[in-house]
Amino acid sequence: MPPKHTKPSALSSSPANAQSSFSMHGIGVSSGIAIGRAHLVSNALLEVVHYQLPQHLLDNEIKRFENAINTVKKDLERIRHSLSKNAPAELSAFIGTHLMMLADKSLSEVPKDIIRKEFCNAEWAIKQQMDDIVEQFEAIEDAYLRERQHDVVQVVERVIKVLLGHPAPGQAEIKQNESAIILVAHDISPADAIQFKQHNFAAFITDVGGVTSHTAILARSLNIPSIVALQRARDLINDGELIIVDGTLGVVIANPSAEILAEYKLRQEQFELEQQKLKRIKSTKAVTMCGTAIELHANIEVPEDVAAVKASGATGIGLYRTEFLFMNKREMPNEEEQFKAYKQVAEAMHGLPVTIRTLDLGADKQMNPDAVSECANPALGLRAVRLCLSEPQIFHTQLRALLRASHYGNIKILIPMLSTLSELRQTKLLLERAKLSLRKQNIPFNENIALGGMIEVPAAAINAEAFAKELDFLSIGTNDLIQYTLAIDRTDDAVAHLYNPLHPSVLKLISITIKAGAKLGKSVAVCGEMAGDAKLTKLLLGMGLRQLSMHPSNVLSVKQQILRSQMDELNSNARKVLHHTDLEKIEPLVAKFNQY
Ligand code: PEP
Ligand code: MG
Repeated sequence: MPPKHTKPSALSSSPANAQSSFSMHGIGVSSGIAIGRAHLVSNALLEVVHYQLPQHLLDNEIKRFENAINTVKKDLERIRHSLSKNAPAELSAFIGTHLMMLADKSLSEVPKDIIRKEFCNAEWAIKQQMDDIVEQFEAIEDAYLRERQHDVVQVVERVIKVLLGHPAPGQAEIKQNESAIILVAHDISPADAIQFKQHNFAAFITDVGGVTSHTAILARSLNIPSIVALQRARDLINDGELIIVDGTLGVVIANPSAEILAEYKLRQEQFELEQQKLKRIKSTKAVTMCGTAIELHANIEVPEDVAAVKASGATGIGLYRTEFLFMNKREMPNEEEQFKAYKQVAEAMHGLPVTIRTLDLGADKQMNPDAVSECANPALGLRAVRLCLSEPQIFHTQLRALLRASHYGNIKILIPMLSTLSELRQTKLLLERAKLSLRKQNIPFNENIALGGMIEVPAAAINAEAFAKELDFLSIGTNDLIQYTLAIDRTDDAVAHLYNPLHPSVLKLISITIKAGAKLGKSVAVCGEMAGDAKLTKLLLGMGLRQLSMHPSNVLSVKQQILRSQMDELNSNARKVLHHTDLEKIEPLVAKFNQY
């Protein structure tokens, strides 16, 4: 269950100077304690201010601007030069495009005119020019060309960073030998966060975000303490400052006193000890005291996550979010690239089930970190299966890649965000078309590949029986199911306190889905964040769930709960919970479950 949100304005003391100690409260999205130095992820565009300059300083300002452009140019050239032979060709082309943009008069000359005409600072001038260019790009019909506006933004961001005196990208890179680096950002897009997987950060804190936003999910998958919705962390914390991050409580303490530091070091050791103890049950079967076996699967975002799945003792992958394969790319990954990724995961799992979800792009998951959705209400827009059905070629490519990979392991296909049977039937037709094309080419695949659907839209939950009839299995995506049932944007920290998996309406929809699966003999899993919350395990088992898929780091704590469970008791407790229509009665009842 997400921790209760305390508005971060509840600063226990304000930072009068750089060294004074203060604390902030946000939403802890990944537990554990980290102690380390703050590394501020700059968002230069947000930092630009406007000021006027007297006539006699204009030449200096123009010189400052020219120097910044030259510095960025040299930086980009240096980076291009240092690319290894194995670096993707697109990376070099990408840098080339940025260099070309930088050389273009619209970025290298026009801002100087603005400085002269408006007597303004260089950062402001180039930002004005960028806004103008972006507006022109916005009007372009061709989607690919329109997308290029993000390159302009990225180039300008680099120039502004130099003007603001931030270390040039590259020099600002994290020193790998510093073990305890805590990232402090205004926001981190899922596309940015996926890149952080390559670094060893100790913790991750942001000003904005909700508990089940994809950024938060990725933070959890980085397996480091993380807090979102701190609101002013980037403003109040200085680069290099010592900070404590308590991801369990959602608390950040900057410049702690020696006593507080000692106390947290102790807590950190205790937390790590608990984690170590949990490892003892890694190979223990997930079976209740009365002998009911539960399948514990793991969620992954990239093939490299399989190592964590294995370390967790999970007996399969219940959700592979393939959209992360599509992020930070200039072009969609082709069939071969996708096939290799899916095959790699299937082979690495040696016959254990691997449930691969088809593309769930849209809403807070955009291909490009800077992409802004044009849709007024992206979570309700052209997302997931809707997007795939509107772009059948993209869907066909992915379905072919999935089918081809199914020859190498136990792959199942999972369709996200179904709301109507017609979406499911169209998907099935496309799957048949993909199979046909492979048969014609004599390419082997599993003819009987299982097809499942995500139940994450209330319309699908209410009609779950109809979906169960036409599918091989169901998987409940509680993150979206809660978002859509309670009309709460999962990424918006302002309404995060209303986001509650125990809301009686949410529990009813889950229960309807479980019953539909049981009636038709189809398996039902939960793969949303609810599955990984050990405080909810007993409730979910009591409601009839026998399969849970979660982030690998939660598998052992959930298993511990299973080992302590008696089904009779859980069934009767769950009945009592479902009987209630009042959240205030449900919460204490569920808390009582966990006392045994
Ligand atoms: C969900 O919605 O619960 C889910 C598992 O999918 P995602 O979090 O990727 O939207
Ligand atoms: Mg979802």
